[in-house]
Amino acid sequence: MNEKMTRLQMRRMLRLILGIVLILIAIGVFLIFSLMRTMQNSARQQMSVETQEYKNRIYKQVEADFQSLDTLASFFTIDLLEDREAFAERLDTSNKQNNFRTMAFFYKDGSGVVSTLGIGVSADMDYHELNEVVHPVIEKAFAGEKSVSRLFQSDAVEGRVFAYAVPVYVDGTLVGALMASDQIEIFSDILSGNTVLGGNGYLHMVGTEGNFLVRSSNTVVKEEIENIFDGPYFDEDEVVHLKEEMRDQKKIFSSFVYEGERYQVILDPVGMNGWYLMCVNTLQESNPYVFPVLVIMGAAILVVLFIIFFLFAYGLRLVQRNNKELWRQAYHDALTGAKNLFYFREEVGKLLENVGDFSVVALNIHQFKFINEIFGREYGDRLLIEIKEVLEQGMKEGEFFARDRADLFYLCLLETDREKILERLQDIMDAIVKISSHHHNNYRILLYSGVAINEEGNKDVTPLMTHVMFALTTAKGSYQNNVWFYDSKLHEKEKTENYVESHMHQALKDGEFKFYLQPKVDLSTGKLKGAEALVRWVKEDGSMIYPDEFISLFEKNGFCTKLDLYMVECACRQIREWIDAGKEPVGISVNQSKLLFYENDYIETMTNLIRKYDIPGSLITLEILEGLAADNVDELNQKMSLLQKQGFRISMDDFGSGYSSLNILGNLHIDELKLDRGFLLEVSDAENVRSRIIMELIVQLTGKLHISTVVEGVETAENEALCRDMGCDLGQGYYYSRPIPREEFNQKYM
Ligand code: C2E
Ligand code: CA
Ligand code: CA
Repeated sequence: MNEKMTRLQMRRMLRLILGIVLILIAIGVFLIFSLMRTMQNSARQQMSVETQEYKNRIYKQVEADFQSLDTLASFFTIDLLEDREAFAERLDTSNKQNNFRTMAFFYKDGSGVVSTLGIGVSADMDYHELNEVVHPVIEKAFAGEKSVSRLFQSDAVEGRVFAYAVPVYVDGTLVGALMASDQIEIFSDILSGNTVLGGNGYLHMVGTEGNFLVRSSNTVVKEEIENIFDGPYFDEDEVVHLKEEMRDQKKIFSSFVYEGERYQVILDPVGMNGWYLMCVNTLQESNPYVFPVLVIMGAAILVVLFIIFFLFAYGLRLVQRNNKELWRQAYHDALTGAKNLFYFREEVGKLLENVGDFSVVALNIHQFKFINEIFGREYGDRLLIEIKEVLEQGMKEGEFFARDRADLFYLCLLETDREKILERLQDIMDAIVKISSHHHNNYRILLYSGVAINEEGNKDVTPLMTHVMFALTTAKGSYQNNVWFYDSKLHEKEKTENYVESHMHQALKDGEFKFYLQPKVDLSTGKLKGAEALVRWVKEDGSMIYPDEFISLFEKNGFCTKLDLYMVECACRQIREWIDAGKEPVGISVNQSKLLFYENDYIETMTNLIRKYDIPGSLITLEILEGLAADNVDELNQKMSLLQKQGFRISMDDFGSGYSSLNILGNLHIDELKLDRGFLLEVSDAENVRSRIIMELIVQLTGKLHISTVVEGVETAENEALCRDMGCDLGQGYYYSRPIPREEFNQKYM
């Protein structure tokens, strides 16, 4: 997963979280609104219930009053009514027994008797003399109807009163109207106004036109107004609406705003005279506990949101930090802090898509393992860090490098010109050598590198990396050039490999593999001490293929075992020939591949060969590579010891070329050590004091362990002198002779 993807995922996550938060807010808002609604509804319900209660009380009272009047009227007789004085007395007595303020009876002609508490009785009154509010009530009674008047200010008694009237029948004939006026108890409650809604509300009584009948003293609206539609209660639209509804005697829920606060209102028709009870809730939005609860809820939601955000932000930071660390680990080499191969391949992949013009370089140090072993790991590590620093300086905009493992570095240069690349690599290598020799006591390291210039149209990383390794391997084997380009020549090499693989079996049958010998010379006497058998593939047309071009391939495809045995047999035959010819035979070294060495019947086969040719095993030296020891030193030693019992000598070849280890000398019971040509090259550099120390040390060590040393690649007299001075036993190289066909060898040396 790369950084881009993680960022994408993070953005997706952020969006998700934001979505969740929005949904939470929406849910919160919805909850608050529905709660408010529920509370509003419950407040309305409470108001309804309470209003209904007052309505009931009004009804009961009115009902009771009517009943009292009816009962009284039922006792009236014609005799009683005719004696007005006596009737007046009777009425006055009845009045005192009842709760009415005033009681009156009017004959159908309008005249009548009136008794008023605290004032007395008047026997000669006309109902027209009474407050006009009362007139219709009396007239309705004359028409046979019971009714209640509006509230009015009585002249006779204090306060506002109502009048009731019932028709009076004697023997089925309507004779007049019995009337009473009273201050209904409920209205005093309404007026005092502290019992409604537990003290949190008040009631007015209004007429159908909105005029106040009874106005509570507790009202929040302080203005002295006559009508609810005049004051600050409702806006115009609401007034129109209310008037319409009240005309139809409908129950109405409404609210009004006064001095910035909203109050719930219920207008409930009493069902009498078109009266309405108007209940006002004095609590804003109903309930004293609800508002703080809402506030707390809102705050809680905010806190939760904040916590979610905080946790998210915190988590995000952790993830980011963690990701950063993971990226760092995934893309970096822990030791030097440079980028790693993984990163390198990825970046090269990107370049392949965008830029086509670039080259990939692999850089390596000769004998890095020795540096580690002799100067210490820390020293080696420091060297690698220094190389990384030099490479950092050497990169241009858009270029990058990485360390893969051990001393293998990869560079990506935005260059395709060979000369330019060579120049830049030389500068980089020089800088590394300079810095390292400066810091590390004049030890001059030897660097080599392979280059693959990207070909037009290539979109694949792998062939590029394969080519650069091909070039690096070539650079390692060739000591004259420390920079190798993967080019048509190397491409040819690849082609040759293809030829080799498809023709090897036939070539072995046809005897195209020729037995060449290269002399090994005693450095102290200059005399021939032995020879190394080296194979040459001479094709039908006479052209030659060198082992470099096929041995590693044979090692991979297994053909090596056949070829090596063939060479051993050639060597045995050669020695037999020498003995038969009466010549003093010299030992022949034969290269043995790992595959052959580990074959089950290897020792048996080898023993059979020396028996077949009847030659002493001591004349055959088996050259093995240190890689053999990598798997299992004990097993190798065991095998070697069995071979040594048969007389064979064992030689460690190419010592110092790979990741050679000094431990091998101590652990493996070898008879001979062949120092790789690279050693001689390094030691020949007079300034390279440390290399010399290493080589001297190795030679001393082998001397003590009774291992004879052979130096490979002796090309000059100076080389020879140097090896002799250092105490090496044998020399091998072009200085004495190139590998030559056995016939030529016999002619020259035997
Ligand atoms: P090697 O065993 O290290 O053989 C020495 C190589 O160094 C030979 O290359 C030889 O020609 C070359 N050489 C000798 N003296 C000098 C010198 O003074 N200067 C330079 N520049 N080179 C010198 P060659 O014959 O091409 O063989 C290459 C490698 O192929 C051998 O390296 C060996 O590992 C392998 N090889 C050769 N023949 C056989 C074989 O029959 N079986 C196996 N398994 N490997 C073989
Ligand atoms: Ca060899
Ligand atoms: Ca060698």
